[in-house]
This record gives sequence, structure tokens and C-alpha cells, in this order.
Amino acid sequence: MPKVRKPKSGWPRLPKPRRFRKAIRKTGLPPCPECHSYSMKRDELRSEMYCTKCGRTL
Ligand SMILES: [Zn+2]
Repeated sequence: MPKVRKPKSGWPRLPKPRRFRKAIRKTGLPPCPECHSYSMKRDELRSEMYCTKCGRTL
């Protein structure tokens, strides 16, 4: 093993591969089973989710 001097600036860091985030974004809600769009919203009052596109509730 050849001895390698550590550069003054430090070892070069390899850029970590950025993984694309899943389609579940800020909301963390699953897609609508009816229209498959990520427009589900949570109804706080009834503690259930509803779709803003087709109006389906879960
Ligand atoms: Zn829907």
C-alpha cells in the first residue's frame, strides 16, 4: 500500500448521488384511488381524506 499524503484542502469528497424523491411530496398522502392524482387533502374535522379532483373520500 503506497502511502498517500493527505492534501491540505482535505480529501476530495465524492458527490453523493441525489435520489429523486417519491411522488409523495409534502403532503405525504397517497394518490387518489379513483383518479390517481396527488390531490388528496385531509379533512381535519372528520379525520379523513378527500380528493379535490373527483371528491372521493377515504
Ligand atoms: Zn380523485
